[in-house]
Amino acid sequence: MKKCLYTGPKLVKKLFPDFIWESQTNKILLTFDDGPLPETTPLILAELDRLKIKAAFFCVGENIERNSSLAKEILAEGHLLGNHTFRHEKIWGYGKSKIHSVVSEFNEFVKDKFDYDVKYFRPPHGRFNHFLPPALNELQMENVMWNLLTFDYRNDLNIVKFAVQKFLVNNSIVALHDSLKSKEIIIDSIKTVFDEAQEKGFQFGEPSECLKYSF
Ligand SMILES: [Zn+2]
Repeated sequence: MKKCLYTGPKLVKKLFPDFIWESQTNKILLTFDDGPLPETTPLILAELDRLKIKAAFFCVGENIERNSSLAKEILAEGHLLGNHTFRHEKIWGYGKSKIHSVVSEFNEFVKDKFDYDVKYFRPPHGRFNHFLPPALNELQMENVMWNLLTFDYRNDLNIVKFAVQKFLVNNSIVALHDSLKSKEIIIDSIKTVFDEAQEKGFQFGEPSECLKYSF
């Protein structure tokens, strides 16, 4: 497989330079998409606690609704909670006002529930269109992509190991999943990133330093 499959497409990065494609400091940020879920989130939180790492969770609103105590725990433990839409929506087919309303819906839900201001967005499936930047601009939010896709959702630890050993850098934003697809390998995937970082002398950063906020 080509390098850009893991590190993100160069042309898209050029076309959307305002998106956060890599950690803004020379430290690694772990990100977990699609939770929270009772089958995976508690395991991930325990492992992050053990390793003393703060991460970013791009949650799905429906999952927060079903598992609100887990979302509360994510926040209580000092992790960042980001917007991954309420229903894991395919926003790339939407216009600007529709994207604005979909993103706002999630933010308002989280604000009501936890009195937490959501500042960061990640598009479901990693796909978007040119209406996303102006919509997020209106909402004073930043879009967070990644520069290391681990393919953990394929549920094959060897693929994750290959990706991490080959492409982990000191400013990686690592995309992982808090979902049933990666349930069996997620803890070993986290360990893989941790071990590789230790071996290379890389550090993990707080979400706030890795995702510099410009608004
Ligand atoms: Zn997702």
